[in-house]
Amino acid sequence: MKVPLLDLKAQYRTIKEEVRARIDEICESQMFILGPQVEQMEAQMARYCRTPHAVGVSSGSDALIMALMAAGIGPGDRVITTPFTFFATAGAIARVGARPVFVDIDPLTYNLDPTRLGDYLDALGPSERPTVKAVVPVHLYGQCADMNPILGIARQHDLRVVEDAAQAIGAEYEGRRAGSLGDFGCFSFFPSKNLGAFGDGGLVTTRSEEMDRQLRLLRMHGMAPKYHHHVIGGNFRLDALQAGIVAVKLAFLDDWTGARRSNAATYRKLFEQAGLSKLIQLPVEVQSRHIYNQFVIRVPEGRDALRDHLVENGIGCEIYYPIPLHRQACFAYLNYKEGDFPASERASRETLALPIYPELSADQLTYVVETIQEFYKS
Ligand SMILES: *Cc1c(COP(=O)(O)O)cnc(C)c1O
Repeated sequence: MKVPLLDLKAQYRTIKEEVRARIDEICESQMFILGPQVEQMEAQMARYCRTPHAVGVSSGSDALIMALMAAGIGPGDRVITTPFTFFATAGAIARVGARPVFVDIDPLTYNLDPTRLGDYLDALGPSERPTVKAVVPVHLYGQCADMNPILGIARQHDLRVVEDAAQAIGAEYEGRRAGSLGDFGCFSFFPSKNLGAFGDGGLVTTRSEEMDRQLRLLRMHGMAPKYHHHVIGGNFRLDALQAGIVAVKLAFLDDWTGARRSNAATYRKLFEQAGLSKLIQLPVEVQSRHIYNQFVIRVPEGRDALRDHLVENGIGCEIYYPIPLHRQACFAYLNYKEGDFPASERASRETLALPIYPELSADQLTYVVETIQEFYKS
């Protein structure tokens, strides 16, 4: 049996007609940049994320850059984030000229640890503390970071909060949606995200009307009206085709999320029955709505051997992420060393993402767990 990590063809088969009708409509209009398709998608996404404003942009990476730009962050500033995330989170901080500062994760959820965030800020001297301008919590794998304490600490230290919600569309924290908690929420429509376009795309949400205006200005080279430039922005625009496809797919998102959650529940039952729940640690659901962009297990012993065994048996799996960001060559100038963030380092050695996409069959889920069981028997 084959179980890919993700099967976008299976998803496409279920939405083909609606997507193609929308693409035809856009081709007939010959309006490809921003326009009514983008505006309509923005309104739908704002409603979905329960936030007053949403701005369609070119990618999740650009969403992060734009949020930091709109917040006025630049050279001389420090921005705190987690070293256990996709590169773009910290890359965006460096791209606006600020200095990324890492704070370790909570080993249970893999998200930024609020206690360590507070400790880091409290330990700063009076000259350094004002240089810290923002914090970028990441809702990793589809579960919200522990936002109440993070927001409290941010308020206390006058920090902007930019949620990296690229993996967490529709995730909830105490009934509130990802992207509606901080000053900005940054989303990605990269095809492998839970709501993927047919190319690159992203979104920034905000509760502030002023920030909404600023983001729209930045998206178009700071231009308003035509050829009058107030700030130096960029080309951060979203295509009508990507917006139209995302809008069509949004109608299916809650069903897909339900299927992912149900697959996660099935895995839990199967792992328990197979007697594996002591050898591997299953993802912990701390927040009320985990959307399972990834189903990540922790394998304290022999993670790489298990990965090889799964691949040999036709099961797709992946390590998110094998090298924490403080160990990346491009961040050597930050002068971090091995051992600085032990929880992140351990997570990069022990975690493994299993297939969790909505269209998985019961047989496929069973096969994954049986294949893992077979690994431990031999
Ligand atoms: C995917 C992702 C991004 C970047 O999104 P792109 O659309 O690929 O630029 C940023 N942060 C996290 C946590 C992601 O998973």
